[in-house]
Amino acid sequence: MTNQMRPSPISATVDFDADGVQHGFLRLPYSRDDAAWGSVMIPLTVVKNGAGPTALLTGGNHGDEYEGPIALFDLARHLTPAEVTGRVIIIPAMNLPAFVAGTRTSPIDRGNMNRAFPGRPDGTVTERIADYFQRVLLPMADVVLDFHSGGKTLDFLPFCAAHIVPDKTMEAKAFDLVRAFGAPYSVSMLEIDAVGMYDSAAEDMGKVFVTTELGGGGTASAATANIAIRGCRNLLIAAGIVKGATEPQPTQWLDMPDGDCFTFAEDGGLIQFLADLGDTVEKGQPVALIYPTGRTGLDPVTLRVRRSGLFTARHFPGLVKPGDCVAVIADIVAG
Ligand code: CA
Repeated sequence: MTNQMRPSPISATVDFDADGVQHGFLRLPYSRDDAAWGSVMIPLTVVKNGAGPTALLTGGNHGDEYEGPIALFDLARHLTPAEVTGRVIIIPAMNLPAFVAGTRTSPIDRGNMNRAFPGRPDGTVTERIADYFQRVLLPMADVVLDFHSGGKTLDFLPFCAAHIVPDKTMEAKAFDLVRAFGAPYSVSMLEIDAVGMYDSAAEDMGKVFVTTELGGGGTASAATANIAIRGCRNLLIAAGIVKGATEPQPTQWLDMPDGDCFTFAEDGGLIQFLADLGDTVEKGQPVALIYPTGRTGLDPVTLRVRRSGLFTARHFPGLVKPGDCVAVIADIVAG
């Protein structure tokens, strides 16, 4: 039997075709020392009302990012079938083991959900979850919103984003939803490492895909949580799946056109930033100093940005390692 023919070991405790609100689980059998016949229980809510498009909403793709889970636990409590035309599938903690541990990757298999697609039905726990999304959930969806934030190691200006894709109709739909989401910043995004991403899996299947980076540092602020809650509802309204009027928000469009947006450390040490998120910087401007920490009296290494623009994301912890992304500079799009 090939992997593609093998059924997923995950079973849903909800009926995706039933009208109404259902709170349930995706149950993945996981035999281990403390539970021989145990399971990973991924909570989900399905709100359905008749025929119409399906939105698939996910948080916790990375387990240490919190705006998405906050917005989706909130939405799961409040969304009613009367408001919906079609179906909304809400999964606040896609990589549940990582979310429970408060880590980016799964403590079970070190699996990074956003590098695990298309997954495997006979693979690790993370690969099995990815496979269920690939073969069961994504095919049901018309619109996919996957929440991200910076996690414990990055911090972002709050933005909603979509990718440049070959299908320009799909791309335009995605950017309409980014505009409706109404984060303070809206980004045309470049991925530096697209292999195995949920984003690519959805886009390759022809799904309208929208993502976010709404803060970071392994926590959520009141402001970023509210951006996520309001943005999610705005997106569902703009997609024609939830009734009501969007709450339009001002947004600054940004572009991340190439690899020069990213500045990486080549040295480890103590990092002193010389600019903060939201500052405009000029190409060649020093953005950070990295002090070697083994002895005093040594000069720090100066890190310079490789393009002019808005300081949009940064390394979060106070110590940096060689290869870490230190700064992301985006182009400010006029208009
Ligand atoms: Ca992330």
